[in-house]
Amino acid sequence: MKKDDMSPIESKESELNSAELQMLQSSLAEQEDRSNIPPPERKKQSKLVKFAKKNTALTVIISVFVTALVALLVFLCVYMATGLANGKNKRDYLFTFGEEEIRIKYEKIVIDEVLYIDMNKLAQYAELSVSGSENTMKYVVSDEQYIKFTNESEYAIINATKVVIPAPAIIKNGTCLVPYDVISKAVETGIEFKSDRAKHTVSITRLTYTVEDVTYNEDITFSSADFTAVSAIQSTSGITFEYNADVTSYLQYIVPEDDTPYLMLVNPQNPLSESFVPENLSETPLPSKYTGQGELYYLDECASEALIAMVAAMYRDIPNNGAYVTSAYRDYQYQVELFEEYINGYIKKGYTRDAAEAEVLKTSARPGTSEHQSGLCVDFITSGMKNGLNNTDFEKTAAFKWLSDNAYKYGFILRYPENKTHITSYSYESWHYRFVGRDAATAIYFSDLCLEEYLEFI
Ligand SMILES: [Zn+2]
Repeated sequence: MKKDDMSPIESKESELNSAELQMLQSSLAEQEDRSNIPPPERKKQSKLVKFAKKNTALTVIISVFVTALVALLVFLCVYMATGLANGKNKRDYLFTFGEEEIRIKYEKIVIDEVLYIDMNKLAQYAELSVSGSENTMKYVVSDEQYIKFTNESEYAIINATKVVIPAPAIIKNGTCLVPYDVISKAVETGIEFKSDRAKHTVSITRLTYTVEDVTYNEDITFSSADFTAVSAIQSTSGITFEYNADVTSYLQYIVPEDDTPYLMLVNPQNPLSESFVPENLSETPLPSKYTGQGELYYLDECASEALIAMVAAMYRDIPNNGAYVTSAYRDYQYQVELFEEYINGYIKKGYTRDAAEAEVLKTSARPGTSEHQSGLCVDFITSGMKNGLNNTDFEKTAAFKWLSDNAYKYGFILRYPENKTHITSYSYESWHYRFVGRDAATAIYFSDLCLEEYLEFI
């Protein structure tokens, strides 16, 4: 027999000896026997599983039901922990002013997670006298006892002290919302404040005392003790001014005897009328060596002289790098023309009149709201600035640095600082300087206030 004709088994068998063959056969017999033994577990299986196994459809239904139940439980737990909890916290607030109960919607009284209270409501209850405008509200007990809020300002003025409050006041639609914590700390003695944040209740009670059966209200006072007072405006007395030029003949202008006319506030909330012209507009234009060529620039007489002293000193300190005046007094008509010119530029690009106006207002003042009509301010530019007025280029100049360090000595302030845009309503303008007289300029310079804040303070 040839090896190739043999099957593998035959081949294997032929290679086993008889003893090995016997072992193999007995082992195979054993395996055969085991296959006949019924698995013991099968008997122990529960009737339910047996039933379920026989009914595949029912098994699927049970699985789906259990899965859905688990999912529902998980959802409920998550909902309880988040959604439901939030919903619970957002229920209305109940305010009681003495006998009167007022329910206020959560969204109207909790703003950015700060609980507010309407000062006007409190003033009515506490019989405080109220005065104010669109933007500021003042609540008065007496000349010395008052509290004043400005819309969107994080400062309040309590009895002539400017203080930082933790969230801005909101003045709109006849309400003056102020953080509850501020008012509960500022109003002293005569009023008792109680609040339960969990129950969403606030109770405000006027305290009384009785003398011979007659009941009187306790006196109300305001206190600034619980607040951080803004660094007091540094007194200008005692500061020695060093001028790098002889300003003797200019001091009468730099430090005007009465600085009231120079503290005039012009902004979108305080516009000038169409007919406003500065009372003392100088008849002499600014010297052409200090201005751009081809145009005459005028300022108020006092501001004009102070500016001449300032620019002369700048040219002396940083020769060839000084800035020159590119805008000064602008009359109402000029503002209208400029405004219309800008708007027409956008209309030509396809904007509607309204859209063009909105675009222009982002960077330009509406006629009447430009401070330039006051004759008290100037814009500076340097010969190196080829792209017109812009902060990036102007901030790089030596003139910017010089003005930042010295303008106050001549009675000028940087009118629209970078960190005050929310108060001034104007974008940062590193080139726009305003004359206010040296006392105010020095106070503003050292206290880091803008003109609006300073005027509120004094
Ligand atoms: Zn300007």
